[in-house]
Amino acid sequence: MQVVPRYEDLLRGSGVIFVQDSVQCIDPKAREVKLTSRTAYNYSNLVLALGSVTGYFGVEGAKEYALPFWTQADAIAIDRRLRDCLQQARETSDERQRRQLLTVAVIGAGPSEVEMAATLADLLPHWYEALGGNPREIRVVLLSHGKEVLEGDINSHLRSTAQIELIKRVIPVEFLLGAAATAIRPSEVEYKKDDRTATLPASTVIWTTGTPTHPLINQLPIHPQKRDRHGRPFVTPTMQLLDFSDVFAGGDCAAVKDNSLPPTAQVAYQQGAAIAHNLMAQALGRELQPAQVNLRGTLLKLGLEAAAANIYDKFELDGELGHLIRQGTYLELLPIPVHNFKATTEWLREEIFHQHADTEPTGKTAVRAMQIAGGVTIGVLAARKILQMLGDNERQRSH
Ligand SMILES: Cc1cc2nc3c(=O)[nH]c(=O)nc-3n(C[C@H](O)[C@H](O)[C@H](O)COP(=O)(O)OP(=O)(O)OC[C@H]3O[C@@H](n4cnc5c(N)ncnc54)[C@H](O)[C@@H]3O)c2cc1C
Repeated sequence: MQVVPRYEDLLRGSGVIFVQDSVQCIDPKAREVKLTSRTAYNYSNLVLALGSVTGYFGVEGAKEYALPFWTQADAIAIDRRLRDCLQQARETSDERQRRQLLTVAVIGAGPSEVEMAATLADLLPHWYEALGGNPREIRVVLLSHGKEVLEGDINSHLRSTAQIELIKRVIPVEFLLGAAATAIRPSEVEYKKDDRTATLPASTVIWTTGTPTHPLINQLPIHPQKRDRHGRPFVTPTMQLLDFSDVFAGGDCAAVKDNSLPPTAQVAYQQGAAIAHNLMAQALGRELQPAQVNLRGTLLKLGLEAAAANIYDKFELDGELGHLIRQGTYLELLPIPVHNFKATTEWLREEIFHQHADTEPTGKTAVRAMQIAGGVTIGVLAARKILQMLGDNERQRSH
């Protein structure tokens, strides 16, 4: 839970007033935002950072039966479903039912799906073995209409590394590519491949694919010509809506005109900081500055102890070193020191004591603790150095 800090902790001492509510409608002409609690706010400036929503592409039963992976609550629901299925599988004597309970289908083959499949293929065998089950019976299937994993994604150059790592998991991830999901039912996925319809029995179907535009963004009075092909409004390089200069927008819900950027956290973070600077500049009557977004490469989790790190398109690392760099980088990016400390100790505890396996004798654990402590130090130091280098590069560019 260290990766989901509370807003109260993040904003303490900042002077920002936090209101927890849901926005119901936005009227940029009247400069008004209405909340579900019926409160209405008038603004002099508005920042739109609504992100996107889960998209089911009209696939029958997807919303009802597939598990999304977007929020903390979604992650808890997936954890619960998987544990229930493993428990039920242990208790049933019906082989067909057991295989269904032990099969997880992950829909899509983009970075989130690849990371999810790789992690489950390492984790579930350990969980099932701890219940006394045969881990070889677990199946994790990556089902996607694309012909390859990571197709059309900024991580596509990591494809061959990803494919190799997916097969090297505790149980190899299975690929069902060129297969379009046509219906999700309580215990199966129906799909079309080579013009033939087939089904995959699976009690758990995880859906993380698709990032359609947020409904509140769709409802804004903005002409389609001033939106990209996904319906996201174009913003100026200074992150303002084309027709409403008092409204700033960034992250997944906006598109910078003539500068296509991937919908990722690193873009959202940098645009958020630029918007804050420009709000300040506007208040002080200074000139607004274009947001400088530098893509710092990609980090792909490929199992419990493996990852691929492509740093700034300059060098690439994979395996356990990639994992340590990835963890180190994320820890370095955590927003407040106390939070960083808590996350680091939790991660170390998991690494050293192998919480998913928990079967090693004390002597071996002590050796592993030494190895991990060394590896973690290298990971954090390397990540710190890389982020520092990137920061220097950015500073040089902005001068
Ligand atoms: C499973 C998954 C894995 C990902 N992994 C990575 C990764 O490894 N690296 C990476 O760079 N990116 C990753 N991304 C993408 C990244 O999460 C997004 O690009 C990033 O979060 C976008 O930030 P944002 O601020 O635009 O929107 P969000 O982070 O989505 O924030 C939107 C906020 O608006 C709030 N909101 C929405 N509707 C309303 C409303 N009506 N009223 C009030 N509040 C509302 C939401 O609660 C949320 O807090 C991943 C995304 C997913 C789904």
